[in-house]
Amino acid sequence: QLRIENMKKKFGSTEVIKGIDLQVDAGEFVAVVGKSGCGKSTLLRLIAGLEEKTEGTIYQNDAPLSKENDDARVMFQEDRLLPWQDVLTNVGFGLQLQNDWQTGAKQLLQEVGLEDHASKWPSLLSGGQKQRVALARALAANPRLLLFDEPLGALDALTRIEMQGLIEEIWKRNQFTALLVTHDVSEAIMLADRIIVISEGTISYDRDVPLPRPRERSHPVFKEIEREL
Ligand code: ATP
Ligand code: MG
Repeated sequence: QLRIENMKKKFGSTEVIKGIDLQVDAGEFVAVVGKSGCGKSTLLRLIAGLEEKTEGTIYQNDAPLSKENDDARVMFQEDRLLPWQDVLTNVGFGLQLQNDWQTGAKQLLQEVGLEDHASKWPSLLSGGQKQRVALARALAANPRLLLFDEPLGALDALTRIEMQGLIEEIWKRNQFTALLVTHDVSEAIMLADRIIVISEGTISYDRDVPLPRPRERSHPVFKEIEREL
């Protein structure tokens, strides 16, 4: 469970996050949408503890975070894989203090459908495969919170659909809490339980996705969200 109270973030004199309050239940899947530059990535980095907040408190399981959020992992738009390490080592990188980390890493590669690519260099993989490796690596520490910063933004349409399916499947199986930043309202509606819109550093919209999930772009929920963007 994640709770944010009165979060503010300034870069120099510019306030980018202007007082965000947000509570996300354990296991919930929340999509975060909003215009370019509204502060989505900054919000995720703050939650991950990769950025120092100016004001406010973040509680992870009721404990206020002081520095890095050990319960959270981020998956970015770029794979950020280590080019000089093979796929298996990239996945297991955070596990290397454990005996037999290779077994865990292989299992994760299997979960993302890349068990046959363990000994390859990342540069030999396609964009979609690299993101699968990045997903496996994010899962390696078994985080309670997965932060996705437009992880599918650079992929072609077909690969994106495949990866959406994979993320959904893995979320259902692993029961982590998910925050997904995306530009794609359909993707948000397809994957998330709840959608929030960030507008100029505050939450301007927050509601649960109705079930059954609307598919037609003419559905009022699409219109409602698009009006906020
Ligand atoms: P996009 O959809 O384009 O990824 P975003 O919503 O993720 O945008 P952020 O990257 O969070 O936006 O940036 C929000 C604002 O904060 C922008 O105006 C950006 O220029 C500014 N900003 C972000 N990081 C820094 C930084 N390290 N120093 C100064 N300004 C920053
Ligand atoms: Mg961003």
